[in-house]
Amino acid sequence: MTHEHGAPEPSHAPGTIAVTAGRPARVQGGPVNPPVVLSSTYVSRGVPGDELLYARNGTETWEPFEAALATLEGGRHGLVLASGMAAMAAAIGDLAPGAVVVVPRHAYQVTLGFLDDRARRHGVEVRRVDVADTEATVAALDGADLLVAESPTNPMLEVADLRAVLTAARERGVRSIVDNTFATPLGQRPLALGADVVVHSVTKYLAGHSDVVLGAVVTDDDAIAAEIRAYRTMHGAIAGPMEVFLALRGLRTLHLRVERAATNAAELARRLTAHPAVAEVRHPSLPTDPGHERAAAQMTHFGAVLGLRPHGGPDAADAVVAAVRLWVPATSLGGVESTLERRRRFATESATVPEDLLRLSVGVEDVEDLWADLERALAGRTAHA
Ligand SMILES: *Cc1c(COP(=O)(O)O)cnc(C)c1O
Repeated sequence: MTHEHGAPEPSHAPGTIAVTAGRPARVQGGPVNPPVVLSSTYVSRGVPGDELLYARNGTETWEPFEAALATLEGGRHGLVLASGMAAMAAAIGDLAPGAVVVVPRHAYQVTLGFLDDRARRHGVEVRRVDVADTEATVAALDGADLLVAESPTNPMLEVADLRAVLTAARERGVRSIVDNTFATPLGQRPLALGADVVVHSVTKYLAGHSDVVLGAVVTDDDAIAAEIRAYRTMHGAIAGPMEVFLALRGLRTLHLRVERAATNAAELARRLTAHPAVAEVRHPSLPTDPGHERAAAQMTHFGAVLGLRPHGGPDAADAVVAAVRLWVPATSLGGVESTLERRRRFATESATVPEDLLRLSVGVEDVEDLWADLERALAGRTAHA
């Protein structure tokens, strides 16, 4: 096989692949970036099976991003969809009445809401598990049809033994989906650990600049890829070309952003642990964190989301959010800017998430500025220490 100049090579590191994947073939005078094509339809070549036919089925603007993400995740098929939830809905597909789904009790709340809706309206059985408890998770997989896993979980940052859980699912014929939004393919590659499908909210780290809503699915399984492709075409939750352009542009710096954000997060977690106004810090980088050893074994970074419980309850947590100046009080995560929010302000957040838990999405600013702002916001909240 001849190798195309500039294309990703198997020996290349993920950061190099993020830069090189999905480029047009190198030709003199040609562009280094794939063109953004704004066209809903394509001139027919009159050949049945014409790949580019109509832009709901597939476009040349999707393909480079899909190829780049698939290469990073180590799967052969990447499919971009209109949002992370469109990707999750397509990956879950049409569950038959009575189907059994296993899901972490702490997971992205709209994923949980989606499954609860299926339970109410279509008689699907949803088994919520503590995904860090491997024995309980494996037990729940008996007689199940689908596992929808997250690790680290949102917002509690529990770490699952992915290889054990995914292997157990495979042995039982249970299809598995891993939402890899928090870790990114640079942090862990669930397909290599035994997952059938990886789902991303591209909105977060992959696009990385809080300026686009987008989702994607990656799989190595031809039949599953065909199923999801057909679902996307029929349900029509497709991506716009400008969104995919922004996502590919973001992907080029994924390694730089994630490295910096994860380093910032670990440093802030370490400092927060010693702060008198802080009751608890959750971040897998902390040697005392229950997920630390597992994360160290299965991930290449500890992620940039951390959990923080200040002394003084939910009011104190709200006061911290109100007092920050550099940090942005906002939902979502994975942007270059640091954001924070109290998760239980949402009535739909799981009741087992502490009322006073702040979820911090650490960005790529200077860590000293982030620390100074947080420290100032926490000042005066030491009363209950
Ligand atoms: C944001 C998010 C989603 C949903 O993605 P959207 O792009 O908002 O639809 C799914 N899973 C996780 C872990 C998320 O953080």
